[in-house]
Amino acid sequence: MIPETVKIGGLIYKVELVDMPDPEDADCNGLIVYRDQSIKIRKGMGKDYTELVLIHEMFHGITEHLHISWGDENEHVVSQVAAVLYQTLKDNKKLIE
Ligand SMILES: [Zn+2]
Repeated sequence: MIPETVKIGGLIYKVELVDMPDPEDADCNGLIVYRDQSIKIRKGMGKDYTELVLIHEMFHGITEHLHISWGDENEHVVSQVAAVLYQTLKDNKKLIE
């Protein structure tokens, strides 16, 4: 389920389903804009993939909050952690009920 807002590091981010999250990148499926406190997710994708993209953008928000970056590997690391985090949360729903 895609919530209307999420809270990361005490900040509330608005989650928006849009045609093109990044007008400068046609392949972009999700984008977090810190200064606007918004997360833009491409609409019309599969349910699970949409959730995964949201978790990915939220993890960007967490690393931004913590001032963590893996430099050139940042996108790769964020994708890996988001994928395993999503899988673990989905497979252990009772954990967060
Ligand atoms: Zn990313």
